[in-house]
Amino acid sequence: MENIPVYWKSGVDDAIEMLKNVKRGKVTAEIRSAGGRPVQLLVYGDKNELNRTANLSCALGAGDKSCYADKSKPDYKPTILIVGCVHGGEFEGTVALLNLISLLETGADLKGEANEFLSKSAERVNILIIPCLNPDGRSRIDFPSFVGKTFEDLRYYNQGTWKDGTLCGWPECKKIHPMKGHCEFLGAYFNDDGVNIMHDDFFGRKANETQFLFDTVDMYSPDYTILLHGGTNTVNCILKPSYAPDAVKEDVTELENAMMAHCESKNLAYHVTPMDRGENKPTPCSFNLTSALYHFSGEPCVTYESNQGLTNCSSPAMTHDEIYRAHMILFEEAIKHIEKKEES
Ligand SMILES: [Zn+2]
Repeated sequence: MENIPVYWKSGVDDAIEMLKNVKRGKVTAEIRSAGGRPVQLLVYGDKNELNRTANLSCALGAGDKSCYADKSKPDYKPTILIVGCVHGGEFEGTVALLNLISLLETGADLKGEANEFLSKSAERVNILIIPCLNPDGRSRIDFPSFVGKTFEDLRYYNQGTWKDGTLCGWPECKKIHPMKGHCEFLGAYFNDDGVNIMHDDFFGRKANETQFLFDTVDMYSPDYTILLHGGTNTVNCILKPSYAPDAVKEDVTELENAMMAHCESKNLAYHVTPMDRGENKPTPCSFNLTSALYHFSGEPCVTYESNQGLTNCSSPAMTHDEIYRAHMILFEEAIKHIEKKEES
């Protein structure tokens, strides 16, 4: 197995420690997970005045989206929200976010390397970071990386085991919700109440962690929200929100194309996903957190699926360095994308 690089900080405590020491950013909100662990929001920049007079549904009913979020003022600053560790066994994004925080705070990542574009980006855009949305799940895994682990290791730790000890698997782990009380080992996918945040009861009572994300999106109306996930040894990709208008999916495709070009130039595998996500299949694809946040805010919300560097999958494993670099390209291209949108 590859040695764990110095910059690879992925634990709940790593994130708390990092946020304790920030000077340029501010931890503006904090809640407790189902298991009583802190979930924190770190903010770079000042919140835009959105002059809200209605919720999104009502604003769209009036034919005027600016009643929900008025982004027309010349001093409006584009805003991005990036969320790590939605599933506790998918913490590659947390590593990248802690390095992004280091860049924003000190001008260098945790390797000591500069990235001028990212370190200066908070001067032009508001950057909101939730490094670890699911600390309960993350805390059930006591090692820092899945690189070099097997597919079965990931299934065990992330989705857990049924009471007879067999792996819950994916997507079968979604057949029961909440999962608490149905497992021998509750996988890191879930918070301590057994809730899979990606498939929470969005129209009903939500878990604290889910509600925190909704509250953050409601308060800031980010121009883009990115949920960072790991997807076994997937070729890195962005998943568009389902049940969203073509214009939103086309906007995401534009970001995907920029990612594709940038990743190719750095010899990193990437793939652009189709417009149709299976909404019209006999059993249509699910209305999950990305779709829910899109319909809540009217702005694109996407899932980024990262390769996790497993040893025995049919698709190739990425190294720590490749996984890390691809995330930093994602942050760079997403920030460029919201800046470009603001100009047009
Ligand atoms: Zn996931």
